[in-house]
Amino acid sequence: MRKNIVAGNWKLNTTLPEGLALAEGLNEALKGHATNCDVVIGTPFTHLASIASAIDTSRIGVAAQNCANKEKGAYTGEVSAAMIASTGAKYVIIGHSERRAYYHETSAILKEKVQLALAHQLTPIFCIGEVLDERNANKHFDVVYEQINDALFDLSSEDFGKLVLAYEPVWAIGTGVTATAEQAQEMHAYIRQTIAGKYGEVVANDTTILYGGSCNADNAKELFANPDVDGGLIGGASLGVSKFLPIIEAF
Ligand code: PGA
Repeated sequence: MRKNIVAGNWKLNTTLPEGLALAEGLNEALKGHATNCDVVIGTPFTHLASIASAIDTSRIGVAAQNCANKEKGAYTGEVSAAMIASTGAKYVIIGHSERRAYYHETSAILKEKVQLALAHQLTPIFCIGEVLDERNANKHFDVVYEQINDALFDLSSEDFGKLVLAYEPVWAIGTGVTATAEQAQEMHAYIRQTIAGKYGEVVANDTTILYGGSCNADNAKELFANPDVDGGLIGGASLGVSKFLPIIEAF
């Protein structure tokens, strides 16, 4: 079901006490505060269980930032979808460009992760987006099409309907350079049309598509005002309540 969502991605930041304080601060700030969007925080694995039990998870959903592409077994250091689900987390970010670039996660691997997340009732927040050279070469639509097609288009329409997508142009992540509202809308409309081509208009119109990449309190309102932008995946500006709350309030 299409909803507005503002999701934080804490990345490799915060110790457990720091993360708990941040989550509790946000929880406090949202008490008795009506919002027009769902709120999610993507925390390190080590924080998931403590945070999920310390906050009101009916107000703030908890997300992992990755999951294993294996169900269980001899894969030292990995964290499975079942383990994540057992902490009380309800979401998992899959296919972030940092995972693709630094940890060599291919579409084939991401496809397995999405399937395992769905099998354990986690909502994948699936990230897609082009690098600057691809945009400059006018290949951004093709790149995004391939990322969706290769990892997601084997899903049934019922399963596809459980996903959240996040368009994050890599050139905008952590750079302070955000996509313009027009660039975001253009790509989000293209993504929705791509989904409609495969699963039909109903599924496409029901899919939540977030924008990510230097989204902050100053530009969130303009970005979220676009008809095909259903919220944001927020990195740097999710690391403080005073920076994150105005983005939530941009809806
Ligand atoms: P940023 O990161 O908001 O710091 O650009 C967004 C993301 O990587 O999800």
